[in-house]
Amino acid sequence: MSKILLINPDPIPRVLPPLGISYIAEVLQKNSHKVEILDIGFEKKINLENVDFIGITATTLIYLDAKSIIKKIKKINPEIPIIIGGTHASILPDFVLKDSDADAVVVGEGEFIFLEIANKNIKAEGIIYAPIVNNLDDIPFLTYSYLDIKKYFNYEGTDRIRWSLPQPSIAMVGTRGCPYSCTFCASKSLFGKIVRFRSVENIMEEIDFLIKKHKIKSIYFYDDTLTLRKKWMDELCNELKKRDLKWICGTRVDAVDKKMLIKMKNSGCKYISYGVESGSNRMLKDVIKKGVTIEKAEEIIKLTDKIGIGIIANYMFGIPGETEEDLKLTLKAVKRIPADAAEFSIFIPLPGTELATNLDWTQYSSKENPYHVKSKIHTEEFSEKIAYYHSKSIKSFYFSPKFLMRQTKMIFRPKQLFFAFKSL
Ligand code: SF4
Repeated sequence: MSKILLINPDPIPRVLPPLGISYIAEVLQKNSHKVEILDIGFEKKINLENVDFIGITATTLIYLDAKSIIKKIKKINPEIPIIIGGTHASILPDFVLKDSDADAVVVGEGEFIFLEIANKNIKAEGIIYAPIVNNLDDIPFLTYSYLDIKKYFNYEGTDRIRWSLPQPSIAMVGTRGCPYSCTFCASKSLFGKIVRFRSVENIMEEIDFLIKKHKIKSIYFYDDTLTLRKKWMDELCNELKKRDLKWICGTRVDAVDKKMLIKMKNSGCKYISYGVESGSNRMLKDVIKKGVTIEKAEEIIKLTDKIGIGIIANYMFGIPGETEEDLKLTLKAVKRIPADAAEFSIFIPLPGTELATNLDWTQYSSKENPYHVKSKIHTEEFSEKIAYYHSKSIKSFYFSPKFLMRQTKMIFRPKQLFFAFKSL
């Protein structure tokens, strides 16, 4: 039996437990290994007593946090092997192996490779390629017995949507992979274009366990596009309806129709998060390669609204090739499209995405990691325009009478209000 410490280096506490390392913990524990999850957002103290090896995960945005934790551990005890995995390491394994003090990098889905390492069949060194998990039902469902789940349930956070859902909530995925090729997204580099589905039966086993053990009342489905397969979705909705849960998911406007939306609503779907991205069809078609028009996005979002499902709309500003005309069109879309919440992000080139591949990285300079340097895609003058339209879109959204009227169905707490307006 090995003792394994799995670390989530994200310094910001989150309202939901980290999914990726929880899956690894579950596989290890089911196979008689001792596992603990350390979530740095909640607990900074690292206990290395009797630890045989450490796994640490990182997306691009928290890679530097992971790197400094690895350094700190190596100073305390250089003998304990450290394996880094997650999106950043999977896409840039050579860079991460050289750049960090980790002993090994796991590329891909880590569940069964970590088990091989714990069973001492594979050494924790160099780059280790994990085979894709073809049947997602082979991965045991999440029981969260290796972490203190109450701290997530009790953490208030800043998410307004969460407080309009019955609590406690839990995160879940029913699928892995996305067949689309949006140029800003790294999904296909990570999970491939072939979508794998858990069986509905397997998902329900997990949900029933979590209802019984942790009294969960709502679910965040973190799938890239939950509604891809109609028959599967139909089955999922039938089963969710029986459990009387509220749930939220993300999908594409061309992956739902009226019949499906009604079914989703009747089975407890409270919100759908849609990636609108841009109000400009030129950007959507030629640059983002989203495969949908702004008219289609508007039509489906209005239909979703009419059916009574809440909307979270996601917009992006500063995409390479964007002009002031495109930014104006996005601002207009923000004003037109109904939503209960919105995410307004400034484009960051992420490794593994088509837009990042096409960038000239020689423009970037950083001693640490080029992916953390602010994008130099646009001129200073145009960057100011991006900032202007970004801020104007946020203000137009939050101060519109339409938005304020919609808030009656959401629970506002003073802290949530503060964070909602802080970004203005
Ligand atoms: S943005 Fe969404 S739809 Fe597009 S590739 Fe990524 S996961 Fe798929």
